[in-house]
Amino acid sequence: MAEAKSYDVVVIGSGPGGYVAAIRCAQLGMKTAIVERYPTLGGTCLNVGCIPSKALLDSSEHFYNATHAFAEHGITVENPRVDLSTMITRKQKVVDATTAGVRFLMKKNKIDVYEGHGSYVSARQIKVALNAGGEALLDTQRSIIATGSKPATIPGVVIDKQRIITSTEALKLGEIPKRMVLIGAGVIGLEMGSVYARMGTQVTVVEYMDAILPTMDRDLGKEMQKVLTKHLGFQFHFQHRVTGAEVVKPKKGAESVVVRALDKDGKEVSFEGDYCLVAVGRKPYTANLGLEAAGVTLDERGRVLVNDHLETNVPGIWAIGDVVRGAMLAHKASDEGVFVAERMAGQKPHIAYHCIPNVVYTWPEVAAVGYTEQELKDKGVPIKTGKFDFRNLGRARASGDVDGFIKVIAHQQTDEVLGIHMIGPRVADLIADAVTALEFRASAEDIAIMSHAHPTYAEALKEAALDATAKRALHM
Ligand code: FAD
Ligand code: NAD
Repeated sequence: MAEAKSYDVVVIGSGPGGYVAAIRCAQLGMKTAIVERYPTLGGTCLNVGCIPSKALLDSSEHFYNATHAFAEHGITVENPRVDLSTMITRKQKVVDATTAGVRFLMKKNKIDVYEGHGSYVSARQIKVALNAGGEALLDTQRSIIATGSKPATIPGVVIDKQRIITSTEALKLGEIPKRMVLIGAGVIGLEMGSVYARMGTQVTVVEYMDAILPTMDRDLGKEMQKVLTKHLGFQFHFQHRVTGAEVVKPKKGAESVVVRALDKDGKEVSFEGDYCLVAVGRKPYTANLGLEAAGVTLDERGRVLVNDHLETNVPGIWAIGDVVRGAMLAHKASDEGVFVAERMAGQKPHIAYHCIPNVVYTWPEVAAVGYTEQELKDKGVPIKTGKFDFRNLGRARASGDVDGFIKVIAHQQTDEVLGIHMIGPRVADLIADAVTALEFRASAEDIAIMSHAHPTYAEALKEAALDATAKRALHM
């Protein structure tokens, strides 16, 4: 048995939760170790999530513009084609550079990296089955569980990673499918569906709820559905409960997948594609983590149970990111990593969960922060709303990106901004202004009177705020 090494804190998992927590712990003077079972650092987000998906979204958008937008700008490109293998290789280079960056940051902050699977031997000792062979024992008074999540599936659908795939396989397909069936019209479905639809794939979406992006403000889903149908030919089937998916292997020709579902009247229907992408959410990952040995309990949905300060039922063991309650977002995981490190150091950090933005990187982009109109109505909060369409902006007409709008929701009496919901060009970046407004408890009037550079997409935020304050938008 190896001799145990002692640390002030050990972090298990190197995703945006774990690696950021480790950096902040080290900055605060703690002797820190991080354990990661994969050969590269960065977790789901950097390896098979945020970064590679955005690389493919950007590449496919270039192709889409070359085939659909350049001509309008007076640019002729003869017969543009996709070289998928180059596109995937570029994506991998972006991932490699980004994960190498995290390794550099670990070194810079003098954080020991253990490559291997970590598990609790007790609440104060962690064993690492090293990828290179052998094991390491780490003694620590404090540890952070940041083990993230894995794709979920549904009964009757077995992911074979060949034809019935998750986002991980969708990031490295060897061909552009002719037809793809998506189960789930959430974020992954719309982002990965857009990547392939832009390159010519016929995308069919089978969704259990009655709208796309069902957890976001309803108006966003409605607009997104219109745009994806019109520009990318998405076909949506709502209120369909998927009951199974099978790979069909003909004697001759390529394999396909048949997805079976019950429509809203209970009638059995089926959809066929070359691939079926299962995007019905993700589940927390705690396999072989030795939580029983540490005495850590899970909630009814398999998430590590934490209190308001992200500490588990075992004092000294904390948990953050996708493995605990709340939105499964990289920046939420990182914010929680910083929060926990600062709590350990005796500081009084704060996370305003309702100010964490949510972004979908389709085109147009979708971005939101704060409460939806439905949530506020359900709570009985008196509200007023203002809305401004991008097509009324000179900047949007200049670029040709006229789809979408910004909606500002404010309290009827106090004028405090309670939610901002956007669909349109570059709103993924624009939402940062809305976050500032909510964090500082700005009124709609505050946004409305601030100067916004002309011509910019940001003017839509000012106009929507003007609309929310006594309907005084200037350009509609
Ligand atoms: P993870 O990133 O999942 O990292 C957990 C790490 O822990 C993994 O590396 C895992 O190998 C390791 N681990 C687990 N168990 C052990 C163990 N016992 N021992 C050692 N190591 C272990 N979010 C956004 O905010 N923006 C986006 O644009 C975005 N795009 C996404 C696109 C896709 C396709 C997917 C799948 C997700 C996307 N997400 C996005 C979500 C985001 O990736 C997650 O919310 C984020 O990665 C969660 O971070 P985490 O640190 O909690 O866990
Ligand atoms: P999701 O929760 O966003 O969407 C899942 C969708 O599947 C929902 O619309 C749901 O109604 C539907 N669904 C569930 N069961 C179904 C069934 N039986 N039949 C048909 N439809 C069904 O989940 P996701 O798209 O898989 O993404 C997983 C997580 O990753 C999300 O929590 C998201 O936050 C995160 N993510 C974030 C980004 C981003 O921030 N841009 C990108 C990708 C993923």
